Amino acid sequence: MTLKLSDIVLTYPDGDRTLTALDHVDLTVEQGEFTAVVGPSGSGKSSLLAVAATLISPASGTVSVAGHEVSGASPDFRTRIRRDHIGIVFQQPNLLASLTTLDQLLVMAHLAGRSVREAAVRARELLLAMDLAGKEHKRPHQLSGGERQRVNIARALMNSPEVLLVDEPTSALDHHRGEQIVSLLAELTRENGLATVMVTHDLATLAMVNAVLTMTDGKLTPAPPPPSPDASRPRPDHAASSGKHRS
Ligand code: ADP
Ligand code: MG
Repeated sequence: MTLKLSDIVLTYPDGDRTLTALDHVDLTVEQGEFTAVVGPSGSGKSSLLAVAATLISPASGTVSVAGHEVSGASPDFRTRIRRDHIGIVFQQPNLLASLTTLDQLLVMAHLAGRSVREAAVRARELLLAMDLAGKEHKRPHQLSGGERQRVNIARALMNSPEVLLVDEPTSALDHHRGEQIVSLLAELTRENGLATVMVTHDLATLAMVNAVLTMTDGKLTPAPPPPSPDASRPRPDHAASSGKHRS
């Protein structure tokens, strides 16, 4: 199992009480599987991604990433797992303003101690795949919102992760651009055998994922959100190809 969260409880201090952000959450995502998490604001979706990303440790429960047990591991170990096995795409493309597109990607390889030559080849391949050829030397302010989000995704894929965690990738984009980004994520998931979890508000894009989970008050259930336009139904061919919960 590429990503497995079992019985996760996450609490935050809240004055003199504690707030339960994740309430006995289980989540399993296999290679090549694209799972969406929907749910109201404040229900715990970003907290779930932060736990899966090994950025915060839960009060209880276990997290396993690409076969590595992360729960209870040292911060150094978790950093290494994150760097080598997890790609993270946050809501806002937090690109470094002074860096060119190419350098945004090369920094990631540098942090992982990879050779510059190898990294440059990987970066150019990714930029080509993201339809960003010709944008290598542009800085973020010279790119459109959709292009910035694609750089963000390319950067997350730079170290060839097995797990891709994406938080509301379309919130800053118009509908058409948003759909293109999710379609790209679906293709990347399939072709690279990624285990992808995407938090989204955009019900129209749910047609492109394999499974839809709903977060409500820190509880994650396979039930889809209340009735929504046709597009929220997964495609039948996906539904037939895997044994997971469906909407
Ligand atoms: P979502 O992404 O679904 O909007 P979050 O995971 O961001 O939800 O938040 C879940 C709950 O935890 C909310 O009530 C939020 O206010 C709270 N919360 C999130 N992050 C923190 C934090 N760092 N400290 C305290 N409370 C937090
Ligand atoms: Mg959030």
